[in-house]
Amino acid sequence: MVDPSGFLKHPRRTPTRRPIPLRLKDWREVYQPFGETDTQQQAARCMDCGIPFCHNGCPLGNLIPEWNELVRLGRWDEASDRLHATNNFPEFTGRLCPAPCEGSCVLGIGDDPVSIKVVEQQIADHAVRSGGLAPHPAVGSTGFSVAVIGSGPAGLAAAQQLVRAGHAATVYERDGRIGGLMRYGIPEFKMDSSVLDARLEQLVAEGVRFVTNCKIGIDASIDELREQHDAVLIATGATVGRELEIEGRHLEGIHLAMEYLVGANKFVEGTADSLQIDAAGRNVVIIGGGDTGADCYGTALRQGAASVTQLDIHGRPPEIRHESTPWPVYPLMLRVAAAHEEGGERVFGVNSTSFEGVDGRVSGLNLVAGQRVPGGFLTSDGTDKHLQTDLVLLALGFTGPETDGFVAELGLGVTGRGAIDRDEEYSTNVPGVFVAGDAGRGQSLIVWAIAEGRSAAAGIDRYLTGRTALPDPVEPSAAALR
Ligand SMILES: Cc1cc2nc3c(=O)[nH]c(=O)nc-3n(C[C@H](O)[C@H](O)[C@H](O)COP(=O)(O)OP(=O)(O)OC[C@H]3O[C@@H](n4cnc5c(N)ncnc54)[C@H](O)[C@@H]3O)c2cc1C
Repeated sequence: MVDPSGFLKHPRRTPTRRPIPLRLKDWREVYQPFGETDTQQQAARCMDCGIPFCHNGCPLGNLIPEWNELVRLGRWDEASDRLHATNNFPEFTGRLCPAPCEGSCVLGIGDDPVSIKVVEQQIADHAVRSGGLAPHPAVGSTGFSVAVIGSGPAGLAAAQQLVRAGHAATVYERDGRIGGLMRYGIPEFKMDSSVLDARLEQLVAEGVRFVTNCKIGIDASIDELREQHDAVLIATGATVGRELEIEGRHLEGIHLAMEYLVGANKFVEGTADSLQIDAAGRNVVIIGGGDTGADCYGTALRQGAASVTQLDIHGRPPEIRHESTPWPVYPLMLRVAAAHEEGGERVFGVNSTSFEGVDGRVSGLNLVAGQRVPGGFLTSDGTDKHLQTDLVLLALGFTGPETDGFVAELGLGVTGRGAIDRDEEYSTNVPGVFVAGDAGRGQSLIVWAIAEGRSAAAGIDRYLTGRTALPDPVEPSAAALR
């Protein structure tokens, strides 16, 4: 029986962030540890309401009230079992998810929602500390083998589900290390790579095989893969960055965000000797107000930028949930990433019109203020602005997956929004070739990538054996951006 008045006794709390001057000196995660008792109190705020809307808010269908209650009672191992029943990698989502579950928490109708994400992370970290990431290898082998292209959360979740179902799974990754955007997109101050490494050990122990520095289409052909394996899963992400075609784009010092972040993250982990793009001493302008921009923001501050300015074409969102997104919809409201409180400036409601340069290098950016309208930007009169800058990072999102190379070679269908098309079984138009994660739905979230990886594994299992016991959390028709 839950504590029905837990939320009256305990206000919502989340972990505090380390002092800004300290955290700007290193790349460690910004949050302070959150104690077990604190976590139990936060879990006790869950009312176990009759219809837990948080289940629907979470793409994985996480059994949130169940593990909240187990944590409240201090039954951490059982909580971990219930959490892992629906989520292969709660330590990733506990740190990185924007937590749509909290937006649909019933307590949020009249009070602050339960700190679900914190409880999730604490259960996951508790499991790691107490040896709870023990491998769960399959009891037998089906004799089938699956190639997974791409080692982001979608590919990893699918591979783990497949080996647990008794198939052999080999993950092919073009980069030198495993993890996709969690390795080289997302900076260490959001998630330490040791968290990823601990989980990878479990996958290896369960039998997942990894082949790195292998770009399918170059180092191995898709035909070879199809000959060697009984099915192929494409989990290659949506990596094509959106460009900004305005005057002066050719100038030196203007880069896509991922060109910057990948180099910075490799330098931090020690696999690159020097920084190709260094923000030290530069006046950095980040064009784009989303997560990728915020990651550039925190990275530039840690590198010692002279100034950092992040531009958002959208107007400043309200501090509290906007009436256009009532409960249980994911709330439109101002989001302040840890990086945003570390210095720098955010500017809302501006559109970039042209770059200026001196001796071939960017020296300034011209802007207009106004309002985003469907299909364009309505400029207010007399709002021209100029920013001095010598490093510009374009964080305007991603147009979709790379569809030249083996995708074109196989003749795979592509949706109107540029993603690889698939049916309700996550199968492409080529039998035996499946797609999951950002490659199939466009740039999205880790929680969706895990959910799709799990579902695609179920689809593949059914294709290979005619049935499946793997859970099937999400249908692509609901998920795909068509
Ligand atoms: C900077 C940044 C920050 C983000 N922050 C967050 C966040 O805080 N929270 C959140 O939920 N989401 C975040 N996201 C989104 C999230 O990272 C993605 O939605 C998620 O990683 C998608 O997973 P995926 O497995 O589909 O693809 P990816 O993680 O993109 O992995 C795809 C992998 O496929 C490999 N690959 C591609 N082509 C080939 C080939 N031909 N051969 C072999 N390998 C190939 C790539 O090298 C890559 O490793 C962020 C995204 C970015 C860019």
